[in-house]
Amino acid sequence: MQRRNFLKKTGLGSAGLISIPFLSSWSKPNSKIDPKTIKKPIRPVVVCTWNFHNATTKAWEVLSGGGNSLDAVEQGVMIEEANVNNQTVGKGGRPDRDGNVTLDACIMDKDGNCGSVVYLQNITHPVSVARKVMENTPHVILAGKGAEQFAYEKGFQKEDLLTEKSKQEWLEWKKESKYETIINIENHDTIGMLAIDENGDLSGACTTSGMAYKVGGRVGDSPIIGAGLFIDNEVGGATATGVGEEVIKTVGSFLIVELMRQGKSPQEACEEAVNRIIAKNKEKHKDFQIGFLAIDKNGETGAYCIHPGFSYSKYDSTGQSNNPSGAFVKE
Ligand code: ASP
Repeated sequence: MQRRNFLKKTGLGSAGLISIPFLSSWSKPNSKIDPKTIKKPIRPVVVCTWNFHNATTKAWEVLSGGGNSLDAVEQGVMIEEANVNNQTVGKGGRPDRDGNVTLDACIMDKDGNCGSVVYLQNITHPVSVARKVMENTPHVILAGKGAEQFAYEKGFQKEDLLTEKSKQEWLEWKKESKYETIINIENHDTIGMLAIDENGDLSGACTTSGMAYKVGGRVGDSPIIGAGLFIDNEVGGATATGVGEEVIKTVGSFLIVELMRQGKSPQEACEEAVNRIIAKNKEKHKDFQIGFLAIDKNGETGAYCIHPGFSYSKYDSTGQSNNPSGAFVKE
């Protein structure tokens, strides 16, 4: 709610993004490139949605120690899944309107393998269950009870994910909401993480407790490959946060990767994806929160959102930074 007020007061705002100009031999294989203008690819590097510095720090530990990007993104986002003070991811996440904490997560590797869990309950680390789905089953997505049962078979412990704080807030919400679900209720700190390791290989992960007080059974974009996350090791990766329904409708992360394949920079690709959502929601978008984050094969990053205030955390050999994204809100 506060953010929506902020949005109304602020109007159009934008802030600088780290942008590293480069010419890439992979995106324009037929063009003549002056070798002097080719910048060395940035690697390793990790980025994630929002200011989750502890998560990028963990991922960086893995990457700088020579670890691969898949381990880095899994271990990075696990930090937020276990952080009970983060009420939008993992343990401590806000429940659905019935008081159940239900988690969505996915992971994708350099070879295009992916795993996902949706509507998972009682497990703190859905991203790790998603990885087991990817590596130990012939499937991509496991849902609900089946996913939970699978997790126990793989040795995950049953845990109560509803913290006292989230429970009390939910009880308060129930009083005022008359048990209705507001689609754009503020709950937008999903963590989507993208990493490139020393070998230049990309992986990504995305994990969330979804929209607060959602209708029981609701699944957002975060565990949907192509919507909340997409990786193509030849091109780059993208991830999303915000109103999942809109991200799903545009298959946002896949769209961004394909736009990069066609030559757009990560920044341009994120802006195009946001603009498509705005074009389809001329009035409604003013209440949306959606942010996209992208990285290309060379390690250049970009981000864009329908909201002032979206930012992403980045860690590379120059250190850690917080990068505010441009906003796109017209009153
Ligand atoms: N994208 C998430 C979902 O729709 C929520 C968020 O990032 O705020 O479940």
